[in-house]
Amino acid sequence: MKLIILDRDGVINHDSPDFIKSPAEWIPVPGSLEAIARLNQAGYKVVVASNQSGIARELFDMATLNAIHQKLHNLAQQVGASIDAIFFCPHAGADNCDCRKPKPGMFTEISQRYKISLKGVPTVGDSLRDLQAGFVSGCIPYLVLTGKGEKTQATGGLPPGTMVFPDLAAMVNHLLKSNAAAASSSAS
Ligand SMILES: [Mg+2]
Ligand SMILES: [Zn+2]
Repeated sequence: MKLIILDRDGVINHDSPDFIKSPAEWIPVPGSLEAIARLNQAGYKVVVASNQSGIARELFDMATLNAIHQKLHNLAQQVGASIDAIFFCPHAGADNCDCRKPKPGMFTEISQRYKISLKGVPTVGDSLRDLQAGFVSGCIPYLVLTGKGEKTQATGGLPPGTMVFPDLAAMVNHLLKSNAAAASSSAS
């Protein structure tokens, strides 16, 4: 089984310093949903792991988060993309939970849910904590420069082996191209 783990805000949709608090504020990054469709066509299950401390901060409630994710699923479906599951951490930093990235709790949960090791599984984020949570879980970290990505790249300290792409569409193009190259070299 092929799996890929994506951050949500700043990767699939435009981020906002004021949080994404309503379906109206959830706007996809151009090309991101189409990129997810290409992943699906290549046999990837696409899973989201997202910090949503806006819940703990009472900026929005669970019903609103569900409505936001319904919009995500609806827009994805319109371009033939499917997101298999959305894992989120509703806590704030002070809650000291195990799931808020950079802690790896959501990645552990994903590994258990799909009964696979995350070793070598690609993970895509725009913040250092996304990449850190993935890296300690065995994932290959990819930074995209949408959302907070440019700031993250400028700050540095990325996990070893992090690859950087302008956006999710470019990352997916690279991933699928390198998979195809690996397949043709092993076939020859
Ligand atoms: Mg993000
Ligand atoms: Zn949490």
